Amino acid sequence: MLVINKIECCGCELCSNICPARIIKMKPDDEGFLYPEILDKGKCIECDKCLNLCPVRNAPIQKTHNLEAYSGFFSDNNKLKLSASGGLASAISERIIKKNGVVCGVEYSEDFTSAFFSLATTFTDLEKFKTSKYIQANKSKIYKEVLHKLNQGKIVLFIGLPCEVAAMKVFLSKEYENLYTCDLICHGPTSSKVQKEFCEILRSRYNSDIIYFSLRYKKEGWKPPYIRALFANGAEYLEKFADTCYGIAFQFFKRPSCNFCKFKGNARVADITLGDYHSLKKTSKFYNNNGVSIGIINTKKGYELLKNLEGFVLSKADLNTALRNRALHDSIKMKPNRNKFSRAFKKKGLNYACRLGSVKFLVFTRRLQLRIHRFLAIVKNRIIAVVLRPKD
Ligand SMILES: Cc1cc2nc3c(=O)[nH]c(=O)nc-3n(C[C@H](O)[C@H](O)[C@H](O)COP(=O)(O)OP(=O)(O)OC[C@H]3O[C@@H](n4cnc5c(N)ncnc54)[C@H](O)[C@@H]3O)c2cc1C
Repeated sequence: MLVINKIECCGCELCSNICPARIIKMKPDDEGFLYPEILDKGKCIECDKCLNLCPVRNAPIQKTHNLEAYSGFFSDNNKLKLSASGGLASAISERIIKKNGVVCGVEYSEDFTSAFFSLATTFTDLEKFKTSKYIQANKSKIYKEVLHKLNQGKIVLFIGLPCEVAAMKVFLSKEYENLYTCDLICHGPTSSKVQKEFCEILRSRYNSDIIYFSLRYKKEGWKPPYIRALFANGAEYLEKFADTCYGIAFQFFKRPSCNFCKFKGNARVADITLGDYHSLKKTSKFYNNNGVSIGIINTKKGYELLKNLEGFVLSKADLNTALRNRALHDSIKMKPNRNKFSRAFKKKGLNYACRLGSVKFLVFTRRLQLRIHRFLAIVKNRIIAVVLRPKD
């Protein structure tokens, strides 16, 4: 019978989807992260599927290996600005839709207080998947819906966090020719309760419903990202992500299992791994100030996904440079004050938790660290430029 170890459980919802007795339900804990709960222990048939197929425990998951990397961005600037980085996830999705296929991605709920997986069959459906939602999306019946589409012979593209791609593969239990998968480079989502509370704070501050919300709005290019919300009454909220309570919670308040993520490293679970190409130099001719994606190909199918992308500037990237992304290899370390933050958040809410002295101090030191890092990088580049300048 399922024993939940909170440090391990990644919230993939697989156990609740495969339980033959249908007694496992996902419920949010007091931090707002979903965990499985056994509703009626007496009805458990002791099949142990929940334990043996759990992707972070014993599940047999075939891993793939990094082969090559490609980077790129949408050539249409308006399209590019709507995506999280270069829009590679959207470009691949468009190609699948053109082939009459189905794309499985993540959209916000209508009031933006949560996120969930859904299926797209048109270009219009794809719009909702654009840009990153920094919370775990509810899976609900998505595993079964994907299986249904695959059995109908549809081409299906599943894009998700690595643990979600792993769970999907375990659920399907065999290879499907018509299934393509992309996993996102991930340093862990924050709690859905943060998203809910943040949106509620904005809603009451502006006394109006939110009609648009982005955590990675590109005001001055893709860095730094801004949070932008538009309201039914015409008002606008615009703030640097890192300066907001959301930004602080995203740093401090991760799902505990993300500190011990089992899906780090060069062995991957998907055909392509997608992320932000942060390690590309600004001086590179392949750089774009509005965002550049990296796509690390792990399988032959991965190559197929990148063929004939329309309206997308794709270039071969250096694999070693592409792999210089810490979130690919290392789990994020738990912040020293995470539990203090959690206690304050549960007791008095998001704004209060972000105002804690120790949290503010850590945020301040982190920003200082980043500024010093950026300053040293500029100095280093200047010195290199002077040393390498051709002598007259
Ligand atoms: C929680 C989280 C943490 C991340 N951390 C890093 C990181 O540390 N380093 C890094 O390089 N990249 C990270 N990424 C990936 C990055 O933010 C972009 O999603 C990625 O570069 C793809 O950008 P794009 O422009 O190609 O996507 P877009 O064209 O904007 O499309 C976004 C795609 O992401 C999917 N998506 C959005 N939110 C979620 C979600 N919550 N769960 C599953 N799928 C989702 C959508 O369905 C869509 O397919 C993270 C993403 C998430 C969701």
